[in-house]
Amino acid sequence: MVDFRNLPSVDEVLRNPIAKKASHVYGHAPTCDVIRAQIDLMRHAMARSDSKALSRAQAVEQIAHSALTSLSDEAQPAHPPVFNMTGTILHTNLGRAQYAPQAIAAATQAMQGAVALEYDLETGRRGHRDSAIAAQIAKLVGAEAACIVNNNASAVLLALATHSLGRETIVSRGELVEIGGSFRIPSIMEAAGARLREVGTTNRTHLHDFQGAIGAQTGAIMKVHTSNYVIEGFTKHVPAKELADLAKSADVPFIDDLGSGVLHDLSAWGLPAERTVQQALEDGGDLVTFSGDKLLGGPQAGFIVGRKDYVAACNAHPIKRAVRLDKVRLAALSATLQLNADAELVARDLPTMRFLTRTVAELDAMATRLIEQLAPKFGSAVRVSRAECDAQIGSGALPTAKLPSIALQLQARDLSAQSLAAALRALRVPVIGRVANNAVLLDLRCLEDEAGLLAQLGGLVAQLEKQW
Ligand SMILES: *Cc1c(COP(=O)(O)O)cnc(C)c1O
Repeated sequence: MVDFRNLPSVDEVLRNPIAKKASHVYGHAPTCDVIRAQIDLMRHAMARSDSKALSRAQAVEQIAHSALTSLSDEAQPAHPPVFNMTGTILHTNLGRAQYAPQAIAAATQAMQGAVALEYDLETGRRGHRDSAIAAQIAKLVGAEAACIVNNNASAVLLALATHSLGRETIVSRGELVEIGGSFRIPSIMEAAGARLREVGTTNRTHLHDFQGAIGAQTGAIMKVHTSNYVIEGFTKHVPAKELADLAKSADVPFIDDLGSGVLHDLSAWGLPAERTVQQALEDGGDLVTFSGDKLLGGPQAGFIVGRKDYVAACNAHPIKRAVRLDKVRLAALSATLQLNADAELVARDLPTMRFLTRTVAELDAMATRLIEQLAPKFGSAVRVSRAECDAQIGSGALPTAKLPSIALQLQARDLSAQSLAAALRALRVPVIGRVANNAVLLDLRCLEDEAGLLAQLGGLVAQLEKQW
């Protein structure tokens, strides 16, 4: 006969201080649910008589503890923070750009109180949501006007829907890109109601191909940055300037989708040069589109900059309202643009640019420091050494450019590299690396919190023991 007399009631457990704390943090109803479930578990354990005999007070304590643990496990954020040690600086799956401290402060302030979002302080009347930021970016890049939207995909969608609805947009066959699986030029064009008019071939497109396609049906000419591939060998593409002139003579806009949107000459930092937004405008881009969270280093956002009347039409289109930004991102974006006014501030305060411009010597010194501290922690269970590797910018900027970088190379004594990578992902703050040559490489290019990483890796051997 099983003795259930020491099984407490929900109310009894709720009077325990740990359960009270749980109820305060996670709410009364969810705490009751979890306590009830824990009592059931204990009842089953007793029935199978595989639990040791507990006093009533012990049972209350144990249930309260398990309830709190279970509630805090469930309360993990949907997108937990991780260490990005993949070597891809702008990793779309890991959230792309990290905000500058100024952007974080501005966003936090916007979250906490009321802001003059669509309010003109001079007249006391309704104002425009993004006229201030539009002026800021227009001035930075030397454009007549700007339109701010949710991301670059919406910028392209809006530009096409505004200017090419039911009409043809002419694009080179070499530029029908797919980015990250869900952004494809032909699909976005279809969604915008524009008809794709492909010209040329995959490797060669001439000006006369575009000229031959111009007609009464033409809505726009478009150029797309081939963000994640290069076509090499026997190739020919038409310079933006010539396409801009052709568009002008046909009285349609020339849309130049840059993707990443660089505002500074990267070669000044010894990096490969990338066409800047300013250059695209100088080349005659009427509607130049780019992202906020790629090389610009800010929050997710999209920009359309260029000719005043063409941009104004985008701003007046109903889709603009559907893809507008909220006050928090606008605040972060404005602070990010302020930094972008100065190349020195950019390299100092924008994490993306800091990661990009770090020297190998710097990373080397970091590797030495980390290995010194990690080797004794790992003992014989994990071998750690320094490895040379290549990092990349990611998110479609300079797809073939490789940035020399340094990684920690980890090899577990009794586990495959895949299992070691899984153990690293199972740490309290997951460490995301990549597997190469039967080892896990942790690229140091994006690491700034060395102490934080050491604290996580300190738990690695214990995590491996769980898997053995
Ligand atoms: C990244 C990219 C996009 C999509 O931008 P999102 O900001 O991710 O919406 C569109 N076009 C090009 C060329 C890109 O590189």
